[in-house]
Amino acid sequence: MKNYYQPEIETMSREDMIKLQNEKLVKQVKHVYDHVPYYRERMDAKGVKPEDIKGIDDLHKLPFLCKDDLRDAYPYGLLAVPLSDCVRIQSTSGTTGKRVVAFYTQHDIDLWEECCARAIVAAGGTKDDVCQVCYGYGLFTGGPGLNGGSHKVGCLTLPMSSGNTDRQIQFMMDLGATILCCTPSYAAYIGESLRDAGYKPEDNKLRAGIFGAEPWTEEMRKDIERLLGIKAYDIYGLTETSGPGVSFECEEQTGMHICEDHFYPEIIDPDTGEVLPDGSEGELVFTSLDKEAFPLLRYRTRDICVLSREKCSCGRTLVKMSKPRGRTDDMLIIRGVNVFPSQIETVLMERGYSSNYLIIVDRVNNTDTFDINVEMLPEQFSDTVRVITQRERELTDALRTMLGITAKVHLVAPKSIQRSEGKAVRVLDKRKLH
Ligand code: ADP
Ligand code: ZN
Repeated sequence: MKNYYQPEIETMSREDMIKLQNEKLVKQVKHVYDHVPYYRERMDAKGVKPEDIKGIDDLHKLPFLCKDDLRDAYPYGLLAVPLSDCVRIQSTSGTTGKRVVAFYTQHDIDLWEECCARAIVAAGGTKDDVCQVCYGYGLFTGGPGLNGGSHKVGCLTLPMSSGNTDRQIQFMMDLGATILCCTPSYAAYIGESLRDAGYKPEDNKLRAGIFGAEPWTEEMRKDIERLLGIKAYDIYGLTETSGPGVSFECEEQTGMHICEDHFYPEIIDPDTGEVLPDGSEGELVFTSLDKEAFPLLRYRTRDICVLSREKCSCGRTLVKMSKPRGRTDDMLIIRGVNVFPSQIETVLMERGYSSNYLIIVDRVNNTDTFDINVEMLPEQFSDTVRVITQRERELTDALRTMLGITAKVHLVAPKSIQRSEGKAVRVLDKRKLH
């Protein structure tokens, strides 16, 4: 028996879904045009009236919204309901600049938590589970989102927040947590700490992990699954659209189903803004179809991925997005070559290294320098200098093949790179600091 949290939506026919999306969009466009001067001005400037939008086929007529618009409108400029109807704010992590503040009515919180509940059920969660949530609580959406989803499913929820890893492990073991929710980098750290404390993967009761909020590779997934003895599911979201749960993985693990009854996705060419057909790689754009307080239309996420409508063995009909390869602004341009940190992670992990690495880019005498510190495995620590140099050379060669440019690889002592309890910081771009 397959399990869905909202089967009527998650397995809805294509025609019914489009009908639902069309109806919601028409209402939403009128709502923002009537209540948000910012949108009204942008739409007027483009010569578009709410009546011109009869369904998702007309979406392309609307202007895009980007992070700078949100920063300009901070804090209340995009609010679409009276402040007295809002019950919560959340804020972005500020990974790429000034924080953005998002507002929620109770209806908005409910739909967000339902999306998180869909994700937990897709990972096999039921009311019999003990769900340990160690995403950060507070302004960050990770903790509150999964906490709410876990309640809706009826799991026993452990609202741990991030950090204090010894206590995480103690509660996990004493209370028999069966589902773990956190960033993949924190999951790897918890796994490493469990191993160091002498636990084997089979000593914990965990079955599944729901990991997201940052990019992670397939190689890292395998590593975490092995360390914790679990199946690891990806979850994606962003504060601007609500938080985690905008899309989530099912047991097939071939992309994340988008909750497209709430968040309508498009893929565009990031340079021209042209809408690309399914199957093309490009920037993901979301239109919030029924959020009340902070409904973004055609919001450019800067995340790069591919959409697929291929039939999924789980029975869900919701469109799938591939794992985001990173954001357009995560991409480093080093000596004119485009480099994504995820490409580097793939090379390292394929060769058995951990996800503990740091990319350092600088500019010396008008030339970019490109260094990568990689932690040695514990058993390599006692190797001779000659062997270590040989390993560094092998990594440099493999990276050159992948990236097309040469990095200086430094194998450093195990545990010398700082671990992350939230989103990992893997790039130090000193060019921005000069
Ligand atoms: P910030 O933009 O400050 O990091 P958020 O905390 O709202 O703000 O993070 C949202 C971003 O996190 C997304 O736009 C995306 O880049 C990244 N992200 C979230 N989930 C995933 C995931 N599963 N895989 C890759 N990236 C993710
Ligand atoms: Zn599926």
